[in-house]
Amino acid sequence: MSSHDAVVIGAGLIGSAIALRLAQDGLRVAVLEKNAPGREASWAGAGMLSPAPDSAASIPLVPFGQASLSLYPQFIAEVEEISGRRAGYRKDGAIELLFSADAERELSTLIALHRALGLPSEPLPLDEAYKAEPGLTRRARAAAYLAYEASVDNRALMETLLAAARATGVEILADTLAREVMIEAGRCTGVRATNGNVFGAREVIVAAGAFSGLLEGIVPKLATRPIRGQMTALKFSEGPIRHVVRSQQGYIVPRDSAATQALVIGSTLEDAGFDKRVTASGLEKILSMAQELAPKLAQAEVSETWSGLRPDTPDHLPLLGPTGVEGLTIATGHFRNGILLTPITAKLVREWIVDKTASMDWDIFNPLRFARAKSGEASPIDSPENPPAGNPSSAFARK
Ligand SMILES: Cc1cc2nc3c(=O)[nH]c(=O)nc-3n(C[C@H](O)[C@H](O)[C@H](O)COP(=O)(O)OP(=O)(O)OC[C@H]3O[C@@H](n4cnc5c(N)ncnc54)[C@H](O)[C@@H]3O)c2cc1C
Repeated sequence: MSSHDAVVIGAGLIGSAIALRLAQDGLRVAVLEKNAPGREASWAGAGMLSPAPDSAASIPLVPFGQASLSLYPQFIAEVEEISGRRAGYRKDGAIELLFSADAERELSTLIALHRALGLPSEPLPLDEAYKAEPGLTRRARAAAYLAYEASVDNRALMETLLAAARATGVEILADTLAREVMIEAGRCTGVRATNGNVFGAREVIVAAGAFSGLLEGIVPKLATRPIRGQMTALKFSEGPIRHVVRSQQGYIVPRDSAATQALVIGSTLEDAGFDKRVTASGLEKILSMAQELAPKLAQAEVSETWSGLRPDTPDHLPLLGPTGVEGLTIATGHFRNGILLTPITAKLVREWIVDKTASMDWDIFNPLRFARAKSGEASPIDSPENPPAGNPSSAFARK
């Protein structure tokens, strides 16, 4: 049996950032990863850093997203410096296009909602939108500019963060499936892995993304479920797209401004279990959406297709915080916003574990809330107001 101060389950962005923060405080940290590190949702995502709400259910997440966005520049500078690698952070803002007959009214609703939430989004006259992005369709009926939004090349960030964590002393153990969280007399004592190895630890942090609900030893099991998102990458050489461009149907995220530019296009929201196949209908949907936003993309080369599993929860909010079990902290269920929420999640988990306090109110993310609901308190699960994973109103951002 090996022994650490802290064992993190899952080497995605969330687990790796937590491990880095704890190691920076001098803790001996191991991260257990069932496959290769950083190859699940954190690799598959689009990398938009958008605190704008993506559904009515995600409105309570906005202050958390804003706080995380404001940590991003420092977070990137720090991990880039430690690792000597680049993470592809871009602060070019996002343009949201609206297409319906009622687009002007929808734009007013979107701007009013964003401003009420402290997000300084602005209406963008269409001629200005075309000046900023000449390749945009002329079929949009209204546009908004979200100048404060940023993006990151999440695959590059993943490698940068893993390198920074290793350089800070974190042990990242690939091909090590955590099977069971070990709990004795109300205290977490470590993790049992498939090969029979036991990793003893004072602190165990569950950051296993969409797979968190499969872990044994936590009762009741964590309420995570996978929501598939299909993606494609295009190589585009007819004038670079500078901003993230979005509509209700999907998004285009520029990765660079090279003569032949890399664009990431997404995505579907599908309840397909752990099936990560890319389907003809999924691809058709995202490719026709992209051509609707920027018609010249019809000539772009498809360079890659893939899909990933977003870690969703019954109320679509993260499961975050200490539990009733001493030494067990949960950091999962970040659904469509985990790349954005990485810096704030790692900051909070460090505070809980090292400072025994937290600098933000986190009760809405309490990982015990579904267990509490089952025992008779008000339940956020399956209520009629609790929308499915879709995106019914244009006041909400597609992610
Ligand atoms: C198509 C798509 C687009 C997205 N776009 C965006 C976006 O633009 N902006 C944004 O902010 N978010 C986006 N997201 C969401 C974001 O990617 C996720 O919320 C985030 O990556 C979750 O990070 P994580 O570290 O919790 O999970 P993951 O990256 O899935 O990492 C969890 C890790 O745990 C490992 N693991 C699981 N179980 C075990 C076990 N038992 N033992 C050991 N290891 C285990 C897994 O192998 C995995 O490596 C998108 C997601 C998808 C799929």
